[in-house]
Amino acid sequence: MNLLKFLPIFLFINLFTGNLFAQEVSLLPYPQKITFDNGFFCANKFLSVYIDAKPGEKKNIRQNLQQLGFPLKYTSKRAAQLIIEKNNLNYPVNNKDAYSINIDSDKIRITSNTSAGQFYALQTLLQLSRISNGIISFPKLEIIDNPRFAYRGFMMDVSRHFFDTDFLKKQIDAMAHFKLNRLHIHFTDAAGWRIEIKKYPLLTELAAWRPEPSWKKWWFGSRRYVLQSNDSAYGGFYTQKEIKELVRYAADRHITIIPEIEMPGHSEEAMAAYPFLACDNVNFPNGDVCAGKESTYIFFENVLDEVIKLFPSEYIHIGADEAGKRAWKTCSHCTERMKKESLANVEELQAYFIKRISDFLQTKGKKLIGWDEITERKIPENAKVMIWRNEENALEALQNGNSVILSPGEFCYLDAYQDAPLTQPEAIGGYLPIEKIYSYNPFSKIPSNFHNLISGVQANLWTEYIPTTEHAEYMIWPRLMAISEVAWTEPQQKSWIRFRANAIDKNACLQSTGINAFDLKTEKGKRPESADSVYHFAKGKTVTYFTNFSGSYPAAGTTALTDGLRGNWMYNDKRWQGFIGAKGMNVTVDLGEVAELRKIVCGFMQSAGAEVYLPEHTEILISSDGKIFSSLQIQQQSVDLSQPLCFRNVVWEGNKSARFIRFIAVPGKKYGGWIFADEIIVNPQ
Ligand SMILES: [Zn+2]
Repeated sequence: MNLLKFLPIFLFINLFTGNLFAQEVSLLPYPQKITFDNGFFCANKFLSVYIDAKPGEKKNIRQNLQQLGFPLKYTSKRAAQLIIEKNNLNYPVNNKDAYSINIDSDKIRITSNTSAGQFYALQTLLQLSRISNGIISFPKLEIIDNPRFAYRGFMMDVSRHFFDTDFLKKQIDAMAHFKLNRLHIHFTDAAGWRIEIKKYPLLTELAAWRPEPSWKKWWFGSRRYVLQSNDSAYGGFYTQKEIKELVRYAADRHITIIPEIEMPGHSEEAMAAYPFLACDNVNFPNGDVCAGKESTYIFFENVLDEVIKLFPSEYIHIGADEAGKRAWKTCSHCTERMKKESLANVEELQAYFIKRISDFLQTKGKKLIGWDEITERKIPENAKVMIWRNEENALEALQNGNSVILSPGEFCYLDAYQDAPLTQPEAIGGYLPIEKIYSYNPFSKIPSNFHNLISGVQANLWTEYIPTTEHAEYMIWPRLMAISEVAWTEPQQKSWIRFRANAIDKNACLQSTGINAFDLKTEKGKRPESADSVYHFAKGKTVTYFTNFSGSYPAAGTTALTDGLRGNWMYNDKRWQGFIGAKGMNVTVDLGEVAELRKIVCGFMQSAGAEVYLPEHTEILISSDGKIFSSLQIQQQSVDLSQPLCFRNVVWEGNKSARFIRFIAVPGKKYGGWIFADEIIVNPQ
């Protein structure tokens, strides 16, 4: 595979004046400390280079330098224009990725204590270089840089759809350029087992293949597996040989691959291949392997034994999320195990399962990572917790002394829409524009005494709705750049305006290397109605609820419907207020005095995948005393699923006077589901 060329495409420097300002340098992630000087280092014909590194590392550095796209000449330290050295940087020990770059008129000096630091310095140098008329130039400056977090990760789900190693290498190249250093691969799940295990060949002969390429059709259809030899087989897996090569490829770019083998839930495919793993030996629709049988533990230990040999990573991810544990309650093996080990319930049985696997990993010199469900009972010592739900779950782990990786869905799930959903390919849900990711402060909910236990940040790409490599790249880039800067750059150096300009520049570089990045320049952004506050007569007025809003989607609570804020694209944006149940929404706004009414509007939304539907029946009533109401308008409109995501304003216009306005919105009988409303607007200005 060709080396990617990450040279900047736009020339921002004003060569005429020689002035260079901070905002004109396109660096991503932005360094911690940068001091500009006037002028440039320039070289023509060639750049002479001296490298102080071990032979293997030297080869990698030379490969990186080739990306400058300029002739190089390797020479002695005294004669070199570019000097790359080790062991010269006076930096705290924990900053093993730290480096410095010093560029003056005739020399460029790179120093770092480690090869990783040298590598990151080179990525910065690549971003600083310009070639014009056969001259390579770098702005005179000094950079002293180190990452905010040691763990800067990305997770790729290769189970729901399969992505080959060429695709992964391409992402690794780009990740490394933006100084990310962990690739977590979700190798196993119901939709396919993707890693060769020599002791259990059926995992990849049968459970890596299905008759339906589309996950959605398969999951809501047959959920069957087929042999690889079947004509309709869709899927794939990585051989151990391919894995070894991929691990080496990533390591050359200072990226550690962390394998995830899911257990005890999300394991339908393992049970399809080896039914003895199921509680009743045949039935696997609920996804959990039997936690009672000894044979289950032996199976996973054997699998992990092979996995451990392939991945030098200190940590092995074992999933542990979303186990339903339903079958465990009645399974004779599981109940027997609970009795024998004095476990009070199936939750404790899950904790026992995790502890046994953790102990096994420790005997092999490895540590466990699990999703935040492992905080629900006693967390194994040394285990690292990956937070995906509410960040409050981190506190349990931190108080217990466990370290934590933050990847909360609200900021880190790249399977959500990145732009106005109506303009985008169908996504599984949620709206997560790059600006919101960039705004993430991992310490915002973590008390300062626990900051040292936060290893870092990770973005996740779940691929249920993402069947192709092009689509995957579209969802990853440029949003992963925002995670890179959240994980690398201290908050005081962050600037959304500067970052966005840099991301557009880097996006063009990615696109030129064949990565199908989303075009940030065309971003539509938030729902126009939600951009500004609405001024209207009912704003700030009291609302009385005759049906309660849901505690899960309260928005601003009792003030939500008259706070002047319209909802964004998604029902969970804390502006839309949710009502569940056949009675829907029934509220009264008290205007405080009898007033002339010219216009009444209430906004509703539909997000059919989440069972949020437009109301089928709406009624507006008015009253002067709050006791006797007269009906102003009734509307009936059946739910139309041809537009899964849509919005509707229910509007009345006329000339009346009243003090109280009652708004009723009821769901249709056929679908039921949720009603979501954002604002009751009266006489908008
Ligand atoms: Zn069982």
